[in-house]
Amino acid sequence: MSDLILFWHRRDLRISDNWGLAAARRVTSQVVGVFCLDPAILSGDDIAPVRVAYMIGCLQCLQRDYQRGGSQLLIIQDNPAQGLRKLAVALGAIAVYWNQDVEPLPRQRDRSVEESLTEVGIKVETFWDQVLHSPEAIFTGSKEPYKVYTPYWRKWIQQPKPEPCDTLKSRGLTEAQEKAAREAGAIALPTAKDLGFIWSEPFILEPGETAASDRLQLFCDRAIYEYDQGRNFPAIDGTSLLSPALRFGAIGIRTLWQKTQEIMALTRSDEARDHIQTWQQEIAWREFYQQALYHFPALATGAFRQPFDRFPWSDNQEHFQAWCQGRTGYPIVDAAMRQLNETGWMHNRCRMIVASFLTKDLIINWQWGEKYFMQRLIDGDLASNNGGWQWSSSSGMDPKPLRIFNPASQAQKYDPEAEYIRQWLPELRNLETAHLVTGKISSSDRQACGYPQPIVDHNQQQKLFKSIYSQLKA
Ligand SMILES: Cc1cc2nc3c(=O)[nH]c(=O)nc-3n(C[C@H](O)[C@H](O)[C@H](O)COP(=O)(O)OP(=O)(O)OC[C@H]3O[C@@H](n4cnc5c(N)ncnc54)[C@H](O)[C@@H]3O)c2cc1C
Repeated sequence: MSDLILFWHRRDLRISDNWGLAAARRVTSQVVGVFCLDPAILSGDDIAPVRVAYMIGCLQCLQRDYQRGGSQLLIIQDNPAQGLRKLAVALGAIAVYWNQDVEPLPRQRDRSVEESLTEVGIKVETFWDQVLHSPEAIFTGSKEPYKVYTPYWRKWIQQPKPEPCDTLKSRGLTEAQEKAAREAGAIALPTAKDLGFIWSEPFILEPGETAASDRLQLFCDRAIYEYDQGRNFPAIDGTSLLSPALRFGAIGIRTLWQKTQEIMALTRSDEARDHIQTWQQEIAWREFYQQALYHFPALATGAFRQPFDRFPWSDNQEHFQAWCQGRTGYPIVDAAMRQLNETGWMHNRCRMIVASFLTKDLIINWQWGEKYFMQRLIDGDLASNNGGWQWSSSSGMDPKPLRIFNPASQAQKYDPEAEYIRQWLPELRNLETAHLVTGKISSSDRQACGYPQPIVDHNQQQKLFKSIYSQLKA
């Protein structure tokens, strides 16, 4: 009689500190992992090649880790409701376990997978793993989901945090089960290229658990102690770069939290503690946006502040293409877009600058920017990306919604030596710093460098945005 449990990995590509996997291992000693390459997801129009390549890299590491632990990670390429059922039946699995998601489509998919499995008598168990506090755990005094970050943070930080869970070895498949798995659709892990996605640039963070924990260690040795300031300067290595690992669960959130608590306990400086806490607040921003999407799934397709769905956005394709390609004539904006296009990642300060520029200067729908980011980002994540775009466009959960970033003041403040601008716009390398940060570059210099004239006037456009905004409010 089989006692096999299949563990379905999704956004938790690791074996350590994995809530659902540890729970499965407590029930039986035969736990086998499975990852489903879902054609519906892979054929979507919001997929970034860099993200697929990073994910495949994480899956390679995960397969190795399973093997070292005595078991296997199976790969199938199918509709999950159909593919998982076929595999689970063929292997005689008693149950399929997985960790829950907050996104509307995966939640719908999970319900159909659950139905499909329970129909044939296979048990399903689900857990919360990707957040410290599940969206079902934190509510306002009147039992409503939070819509404003600061009170959410106050409540969130007071809650006791779970400890990392154990990593246990398991038994893998027998030879007969391996054969049955192959017959039921298990395949060798394809490369990103096999799936039609080409990414040949280096990753900002190497895939897998080891790279993620090394990076956490490095960040906690140094940059975290200056994070409150360092995080604002895109030219310096002042942030953790852990977003791809958090997106795909290459690091456990409890492990990460425990590390911050350890260094907090060791430091004697109040200043250092403040920096560490600022970083913890970013972890809470991530959870804030996840709970928002969970409770308000309509965020995925429209504005939180509904009048914004009627906003008369411009549909100027030329402007949009100039923004995508980093050819708006505003150096800080263009540098950031080139960083995104070339590396698959963009610094947070710059994400805010380019999002403000698209929505407030070009007056283009935030959803165009949201989608372009998803098509390019290694860490592209519906909850954080949507939250960031709605915050930037004034349509989101923000008590002070009308924020307009002036690209010149942002560059003067956060890239004062124009190091970041020069790195990503090498054609402007030899121009004076003052001209690069203010964007006041003469027409002849622009022409000589092959760099475009500004496509809009910031002052005029912000007036226009404000007037449309006040009409909308009225
Ligand atoms: C328009 C816009 C779009 C964004 N899209 C994404 C996205 O698709 N995926 C994504 O992970 N983040 C997104 N962010 C948030 C943020 O820019 C990135 O999380 C951050 O730049 C990642 O770098 P890091 O890991 O070095 O961050 P750190 O500064 O080291 O922060 C640590 C972690 O906290 C979380 N975090 C930090 N800032 C935020 C934030 N503002 N909102 C939510 N979580 C945060 C991330 O998981 C991050 O890895 C977006 C922000 C904006 C303004």
